[in-house]
Amino acid sequence: MKTLMAPWRMEHVEGRAEKVSGCLFEPEGTEPFNPDLLLLYRDPKTVVLLNRFPYTNGHILLAPVKHVDCITSLNQAEQTALIGMLSEATQILREILHPDGFNIGSNIGKVAGAGIADHLHFHIVPRWEDDHNFMTVLGEVRSIPEHLLTTYDKLLPPFQQLLAIRNR
Ligand SMILES: [Zn+2]
Repeated sequence: MKTLMAPWRMEHVEGRAEKVSGCLFEPEGTEPFNPDLLLLYRDPKTVVLLNRFPYTNGHILLAPVKHVDCITSLNQAEQTALIGMLSEATQILREILHPDGFNIGSNIGKVAGAGIADHLHFHIVPRWEDDHNFMTVLGEVRSIPEHLLTTYDKLLPPFQQLLAIRNR
């Protein structure tokens, strides 16, 4: 049987980024993007990061700016902003990377497999018909960063465009 959904692995790889000081979902500074942090987008309510240890190419992480551990701790406007951003980010990934499908989800609580359990976040993982695990295909983790920045450079312009439209 071919298993396409493996959220525990998504969290496993993401967990390796935890060594960075402070909360991953509260990137330092105030600028709307930062390649060093793989920050693609920030507005007053939401943050979008490229996962430093992706499950597939284009694996992004989306979080509320507010440090809460569950979606039920957000007010209605914050929930609406988060879900709206999930949709916008999915559309950007579709247009830029042309995947055949997506895994979109959130692990809430350590018991559910959350790598960073105290700040709510969603994974958006693009999937291709023939995508044997991206990490396996590339083999070595050390070959990832260059690929990551290439993906970052492709994804940044549409996120900047989105921010410009929203600031209008
Ligand atoms: Zn946080």
